[in-house]
Amino acid sequence: MTARILDGKHIALQIRKEIATEVAALMEQRGIQPCLAAILVGDDPASQVYVRNKEIACEKAGIQSRLFRMPSSTTTSELLALLAQLNSDPKIHGILVQLPLPKQIQEREVLDAVLPAKDVDAFAPENVGLISQGRPRYLPCTPHGVLQLLGRCEIETVGKEVVVVGRSDIVGKPLVSMFLQKSGPLGPTNANSTVTCCHSQSADLAKITRRADILVVAIGKPNFITAEMVKPGAVVIDVGINRLDGKIVGDVDFESVSKIAGAITPVPGGIGPLTIAMLLKNTLTAASNS
Ligand code: NDP
Repeated sequence: MTARILDGKHIALQIRKEIATEVAALMEQRGIQPCLAAILVGDDPASQVYVRNKEIACEKAGIQSRLFRMPSSTTTSELLALLAQLNSDPKIHGILVQLPLPKQIQEREVLDAVLPAKDVDAFAPENVGLISQGRPRYLPCTPHGVLQLLGRCEIETVGKEVVVVGRSDIVGKPLVSMFLQKSGPLGPTNANSTVTCCHSQSADLAKITRRADILVVAIGKPNFITAEMVKPGAVVIDVGINRLDGKIVGDVDFESVSKIAGAITPVPGGIGPLTIAMLLKNTLTAASNS
């Protein structure tokens, strides 16, 4: 069997076109141009690329982006002072703090300081709580991208055995919560799953992953999931982005798994582009609600 390739890049472009149309309508009807403020502390090369890609995507959708660069020696209180300023600026609708932050900065304190209404990454405790209660203000970008991809590829999730490997606050945990809801971003067929979450302490991981109708992997370990860990015909979503020998690879061994899975996302070109598209969506929502 050769798996169907789930083309995240193509779907992300579709979503970005839809967003651009909505942005134009918001500007015409209410004179509001959505604006995203990105804070980049230090000079981590990967972060610079991510922020640049987000800026380009914003521009193409008609969203204004403003980049605030701070030196790697920045203190927590300096960053909090900038956040206070951005929180109270009515022209800024969304705020993004690019992670990772330098070690001396209290990351939790900083993320908690973003006004929940401008928290387009959906990291704030209030926004996390709303997601878990099934009444989200914003959906976190990468998990939202996973569900948009499944829904738009007409892969239903109702009653499916879903296994999520990874329990980070950014990907694994919110994704588990979203699969569990009675309705997803694209309606009831985009949620209602039976969900298991695995992590580094899970015993006999392969036994659990082999149960999955839909297997989502977000662990940050190159090519970790191999064909023996996948049920034949399963849908495999690879969230991982790893650099290996100068190449970008996922957490799933694409070569072996694509021979046994029913469908699989490539890396690059899978979930990455969708993550950016969903950030634009949240910025548009923030501006519409302002
Ligand atoms: P974290 O490092 O925050 O979390 C990794 C998770 O994987 C942890 O829960 C950890 O378990 C678990 N894990 C690690 N090793 C194993 C193992 N051997 N078996 C089972 N579970 C394991 O990572 P993130 O969630 O932030 O990111 C994961 C990957 O996704 C990375 O490659 C990252 O680059 C990528 N990513 C991609 C995005 C995209 O847009 N496509 C966006 C965000 C991330 P424990 O909790 O026990 O430590």
